[in-house]
Amino acid sequence: MLLRLCLFLACMCMVVLAAEDFYKLLEIKKDASEREIKKSYRKLSKKYHPDKNPGDESAHDKFVAVAEAYEILVDEETRRIYDQYGHDGIEQHKRGGQRGGQHHDPFDLFSRFFGGSGHFGGHGGGQRQGPNMEVRVAVPLRDFYNGRKTEFTVEKQAICSACEGTGSADGHVESCTQCGGRGARIQRQQLAPGLFQQVQVACDKCAGKGKIIKKPCPICSGSRVVREPETHELHVEKGMPKGVRITYENEADESPDYVAGDLIVHLVETEPALGTADHERTDGTFFRRRGKDLFWREVLSLREAWMGDWTRNITHLDGRVIQLSRKRGEVVQPNTVEVLKDEGMPIWYQQLPEGTHDELFGDLHIEYVVVLPDQMDKPMEKDFWSTWEKWRKKNGLKLDKELGRPEGPIAMPSGHDEL
Ligand SMILES: [Zn+2]
Ligand SMILES: [Zn+2]
Repeated sequence: MLLRLCLFLACMCMVVLAAEDFYKLLEIKKDASEREIKKSYRKLSKKYHPDKNPGDESAHDKFVAVAEAYEILVDEETRRIYDQYGHDGIEQHKRGGQRGGQHHDPFDLFSRFFGGSGHFGGHGGGQRQGPNMEVRVAVPLRDFYNGRKTEFTVEKQAICSACEGTGSADGHVESCTQCGGRGARIQRQQLAPGLFQQVQVACDKCAGKGKIIKKPCPICSGSRVVREPETHELHVEKGMPKGVRITYENEADESPDYVAGDLIVHLVETEPALGTADHERTDGTFFRRRGKDLFWREVLSLREAWMGDWTRNITHLDGRVIQLSRKRGEVVQPNTVEVLKDEGMPIWYQQLPEGTHDELFGDLHIEYVVVLPDQMDKPMEKDFWSTWEKWRKKNGLKLDKELGRPEGPIAMPSGHDEL
């Protein structure tokens, strides 16, 4: 502990000497909100945590510096001093011993955000890691096609920030006198004359916690944790497969007793629906996706399918118009599939063949469906009928005859063949 403190102080001095701008350190703007400061601390402290960068001195220094920058900027008073007088002002303020901007060990600060004792579980830190949390997030196909940065919110158990996870309103947590802080005591039971057994039972005074809080925190009622919504950024990358799992390390339920587990997001596709905005009404909204290919059904009238001379504008998922057409005399048979090369999904960069740097796409499959009118105007019906009659008499074939079919029923041989 003493060694860590010395190391900490040594690093602090280095930071002060280097005097890197706190806003730059936290990768935030001058007018960043408290929420942005916290968000950035969460991100950077995980990135530079010594447990994740074993043996990397510069990461360790950065971890310590990020913690200091956070503590100065998250406190209104010290932030104002820093904005006005910079690092010197902060130094003077500290020497003056004023309140505010009090310093935590950077590992303690980390544990206020992620639980445990400031070290990672399962990553070599030897700390217990809490359960992972899984959520489904649905986005429209359009986002899988174009890529999009968005956000989602989950409700989770978080360490109470009012009491910093102590459960105490005034910060005082006393060790239980009855069990000496162990939470359990040894009871001697006599089994038979001269034969004793020692059993461990939970301490009744502190309910096995080992600690006693006289004034519980009013926000969490002493439970040290609260339920609250947390918003995360979500980067839907072009061509990500449906059902892809995205891991947010240590963003599951928090507890002072363990390091938060991971939040795992299953990215799924929303049911296509007609929206109100233009981009929610394009044909592309209703494309169906299978892997890297897209599928679309285009309806043609009998005239179009048979006689040709038509064009269709299909709006793709990125708003581009794709034109389909046939010249006069070009027939489209029902259920024909036309394959438009490279008009399918972009291929996710993680699934590109080795050494490929260009964007690659799947194909768009257009299936033509032909609809026949089931009602016609009387005069129209007459016209068509007579046209058909005329040409049937000239060129008509009896398909039955062509195929060699008999004209009437055929008598089957009786079931008792004589051998
Ligand atoms: Zn609390
Ligand atoms: Zn006790």
